[in-house]
Amino acid sequence: MKIVIATKNPGKIQEFKEKLKSIDLELIPLTQFPDIPDAQETGNTFLENCYQKATFYSNFLKLPVISDDSGLEVDILNGLPGVKSSRFAGEGATDEENVEKLIAELRKRNVNQSKARFRCFIFLSFPNNYGMWSEGTLEGKVITEPKGEKGFGYDPIFIPEGDKRTLAQLETEEKNRISHRAKAIEKLVNLLKVMRWIG
Ligand code: IMP
Repeated sequence: MKIVIATKNPGKIQEFKEKLKSIDLELIPLTQFPDIPDAQETGNTFLENCYQKATFYSNFLKLPVISDDSGLEVDILNGLPGVKSSRFAGEGATDEENVEKLIAELRKRNVNQSKARFRCFIFLSFPNNYGMWSEGTLEGKVITEPKGEKGFGYDPIFIPEGDKRTLAQLETEEKNRISHRAKAIEKLVNLLKVMRWIG
């Protein structure tokens, strides 16, 4: 089976390839379709966003398409930044600006940490409008002192449950074993295996 992966992020493509290699399918990056229009991402939830992207591209390309949407939910901020994770400090904000904004929001509330979680939703859409989705969560806490140089996004201020290090202090392989994305991909792989078994 050929499946298009609706991301241009090489790190994500590699992570999907690694985890999907236990099943016999060809993953095609979106970069192979340079003229394809951008899908909208206007949902209020991660699931709505990945559903929107996957169905748009699979209807356009007439191929199965996988799309993911992820972000950070902070308890003391009532779940923010959530779907706004990539633009918490404003449209086009850098990772550093988003991290600074989050730290400022914690300090405004006179705390130096809060329970938080990364969540990832993945939607696999087939051109006949049939689809399936999976979800992965990484529980932990956010802190106000960034630590570590690796990773991206909010990694320098996120400490996974049971660890003392931030995600930015973990080796990539270590993070990729426990991440919200890894868990969501593994669940999707299991769904695909069951589908092949009954199909
Ligand atoms: P995306 O939907 O996976 O591109 O992620 C949206 C935003 O969520 C990113 O721009 C990051 O700010 C944040 N995010 C998602 N996953 C991670 C992660 O593994 N580490 C740090 N930040 C993340």
